[in-house]
Amino acid sequence: MRFVADRPNNQTAPRKKANKKASGKTSKKARTLEILSRLKDLYPDATCSLDYETPVQLLVAVILSAQCTDRRVNMVTPGLFARFPDAEALAAADLDELMELVRSTGFYRNKAKNIRATGEMLMSQFGGQVPQTMAELTQLPGVARKTANVVLAHAFNINAGVTVDTHVKRLTKRLGLTKHDDPLKVEQDLIKLLPQPDWENWSIRLIYHGREVCDARKPDCDRCSLADICPSAGMIVSSRAGQTKAKQVSQKQKDSKTAAKKTKTTQTSKATKTTGVSKKNQAQRSPKRVKKSSSKATS
Ligand code: SF4
Repeated sequence: MRFVADRPNNQTAPRKKANKKASGKTSKKARTLEILSRLKDLYPDATCSLDYETPVQLLVAVILSAQCTDRRVNMVTPGLFARFPDAEALAAADLDELMELVRSTGFYRNKAKNIRATGEMLMSQFGGQVPQTMAELTQLPGVARKTANVVLAHAFNINAGVTVDTHVKRLTKRLGLTKHDDPLKVEQDLIKLLPQPDWENWSIRLIYHGREVCDARKPDCDRCSLADICPSAGMIVSSRAGQTKAKQVSQKQKDSKTAAKKTKTTQTSKATKTTGVSKKNQAQRSPKRVKKSSSKATS
């Protein structure tokens, strides 16, 4: 799930030296509020980037956005919604046609099945409308807590929880606001730290910051306006950079081994030239000397 906002032109805000103990002196809650305030300044117009006209269409778009970009979903949904605009049409959809329409979003078989089953359930249990509680929404096929949070917030303006996608999880951890990887536990930590009206807009803005600055593999801490209050500032080495470094180190080791071998060979050949005795000959002569001396000793 991704969101789009106008690209901020003030991303490179002046910052103090990276705060080594960003999580130390200031309380976690105060730091969270400061981060939230800065994110609001950075991404004032952040909003859901999925195209939809009704709650049912938003629900379908969010289901399609799993493991897929919002841009791709927005390319697919105009055709999909023209053919199947509401729960009734989705419930009666031909599965093969549905699969074909959503194919380019990936995992299309499961997504098509879930969308049709969701349409059927909306018709049979909710009068063709999207329910407005977490408990009801998460009964729908293909709808987990993350999807439900997005739908409730954007279709009904209900902050039932904090949407935790891959960006929110990564950044919340980097910012020292959770120790967990499990999205449900991350969400619980965030619920304790954030004011409820900001639950959804925290996620939208953090997602945007993750895409713009705090990349999964290569966070741009030098350009980050949160660096002075982020305990991870300058601490994350990208895995790609790590691999490159490791390759360089192993190549260096190989080079030095080869150089050592060469030196040894050169020294040996020099010694052979000087004495006129090859190593082989030396080896052949040595036992004779030993034999001679040992025969002397015996006699
Ligand atoms: S870019 Fe760096 S400083 Fe900014 S949030 Fe990510 S890890 Fe922290």
